[in-house]
Parts: sequence; structure tokens; C-alpha cells
Amino acid sequence: MTRSWQPKRVLVTKSAAELPHGRQIVERCTAAGVEDVQLLRSDRLPSLSGADERATYALAKSTLAVVVAPPSKRKLQPIPPSADWRVDLAEGCPAHCQYCYLAGSLGGPPITRAYANLDEILGAVPQHVGAGGVTSGTDARGHEGTTFEASCYTDPLGIEHLTGSLSSAITRFGTADLGGPVQLRFTTKFADVEPLLGLPHNGRTRVRFSVNAASVERFEGGTARMGERLDALRRMALAGYPVGLTIAPIMPVEGWREEYAALLDAVAAATAGVPGLDLTAELITHRFTPKSKDVLLGWYPRTKLEMDEDLRRQKRGKFGAVKHVYPAPVMNELRTWFEEALDSRLPDARFLYWT
Ligand code: SF4
Repeated sequence: MTRSWQPKRVLVTKSAAELPHGRQIVERCTAAGVEDVQLLRSDRLPSLSGADERATYALAKSTLAVVVAPPSKRKLQPIPPSADWRVDLAEGCPAHCQYCYLAGSLGGPPITRAYANLDEILGAVPQHVGAGGVTSGTDARGHEGTTFEASCYTDPLGIEHLTGSLSSAITRFGTADLGGPVQLRFTTKFADVEPLLGLPHNGRTRVRFSVNAASVERFEGGTARMGERLDALRRMALAGYPVGLTIAPIMPVEGWREEYAALLDAVAAATAGVPGLDLTAELITHRFTPKSKDVLLGWYPRTKLEMDEDLRRQKRGKFGAVKHVYPAPVMNELRTWFEEALDSRLPDARFLYWT
């Protein structure tokens, strides 16, 4: 089993240490054997700059900060095409994926911040139930209820052994009356699901495992191996959770058809014989922005990841921001192949979206 993340240092702000959940995180970190737990005298984190970009990266990636999420971070935002709303339990991730989708969207060194004011964060959920444009009230996905995505800015399972936040959220969604049908969703590249198996989830949390071709998995440092993720998928499904695949980022690497076919066959084997299996598939192709490329090349200067603008098509987002996606013929080829392969190899999977 891939070893759980062990931060070298935990920094706890004054306000975070005053909250029960903040104190619980400190206790968990101490129990996990973290020796350097610093209770700060204020709410300011010390500078995490090292001698150069690599040193700053290493320092940040080995640090967990326990902080109070400010009101701006607690405001739930729409998050199409995944879910009606985004709810953040933390920000940042200890893994080292060379294509990390957080690069360019988080400011400063890539430190992981766990939020101590979990009650306040989850307290915003009821006023959003029944609202939203992705699943709520739609023909295709209305049966999912109002959906809340917890993995936009973190991998919540990767830090769960230190925070317990995901278990609290799953239990809250599973047992509280939040004012209507709801679903918590998260996606992960980790596999330590043991603490989640016995929770009273009531079928109201969908866990999706982020899976990929073997050649792409090589870019995913510090995560659980693919076989471990698929074992975890099976265990969660057997524990009655709705489950899913986030196949992302899809890349037309050499031999991609064979590699993705092998992946889908491995998923079919991992889900065989699960009673009442509820399996979805979300398909996301690789893309990068000028900013994410710049940040990723700073973090991983020797990466072999293809980020060549000449091989890409420019797509403009809602606010005019440029994304480099695959050209239309490549996209069409990938999409056609995946739709057929899902149909034939994983006929029980419900396809949610392609992007
Ligand atoms: Fe980034 Fe996700 Fe990899 Fe973490 S697991 S480094 S958030 S891509």
C-alpha cells in the first residue's frame, strides 16, 4: 500500500487552534507522528520561500497549514460540468502530478491548507439545496439531487488521515436533514478508504476515482498506484457508496487505445459482481493555460509532459482566458473511441460528460 502523506511540519494559526475541528486536526497529526507542529501566535503563516523555486516547492509540499477559511473561500460557487456547487474542505494537495490542475489556480507556494471552520463551511449547504444548474432539476441528472463537489481545490482523501474533514462531511450529508435531496461528490487519486467504509453515508456521497492510462500514471507522483485505486473503488462500492470514474486527464499517448482499453477492462474486473453497482464516468481531456504551463515548468523543469501550443487549439473561457486543448480531429477521435469503449467494456457505467 502506498504510504499516507506525512507532512514534515504542521502550522496552525491562532484562530484555527481555537476551533474544535482545528484541535482535532492537531491531535491527528500528533498521533500520526508529526513532530514539528507549530501553534502560531497569529493568523499569518510564515514565509515558505526557499532558496529557489524547487526548494520553495519542496518546503510547501511537505507542509500542512491548519487555517480558518475566510468568507470569500466559504462562498459556494457553481462548478459545471461536475456539480451544482463547489464546497472546499481544504485547498492544496500533497501529491506531485506533473499536470496538476491546481497549478495556475492557487496563488503562492503549493502548501496544503486544511480548514478548521468545517462547521461554518458545511453550514452554507442548506441554503443552496434545490438551487443550481448542473444537476438540480435537470432531466439527465436531477435524480442526483443538489450536488456539492469537494475536490475542486484539493484531494480530500489524500489528507483525510490528518484532517477527518471528509468523514465529517460524508456523515453530515448522510444523516442530517439538509432541506432536500443532496449528494456530496469527491474525486481522488488515493486509496486509503478504510475510515470511510463504515460511515453512515446513506448513499448520499459519490466517490470517483481518478484513473488513467499506464503512460499517464507515470506523471502522478505521490499518489496511490492504479491497482490500489481500483481495489478502493471496489471496496467503496461494496460498502454501498455510489462510485465513479474520473478519467482525467485523457492524453493521446503512444498506444493510447490499448492502454485505455486495459484500464477499462481493469475497472470492469474491479466492479464485477458488486450488488446494485451505481457507476458513473466523467471524461476530461488534458488542457493547459499559459499560467499553468509556466507554474508546472517551475515545479517540474524536466517534465516530459507535452505542453506544446503548436499541437493544440486555443479555446477561450467565459472571461476570455485562453486554454490550450487538443485540436478538433484529435478530440473527435478520442471521444468516439471512449464512447464506444465504455459501451462495450463497461456497459453499466453511466456517462456524465466529456470535456
Ligand atoms: Fe494535483 Fe490532483 Fe495530483 Fe493532487 S492529486 S497533485 S490535486 S492533480
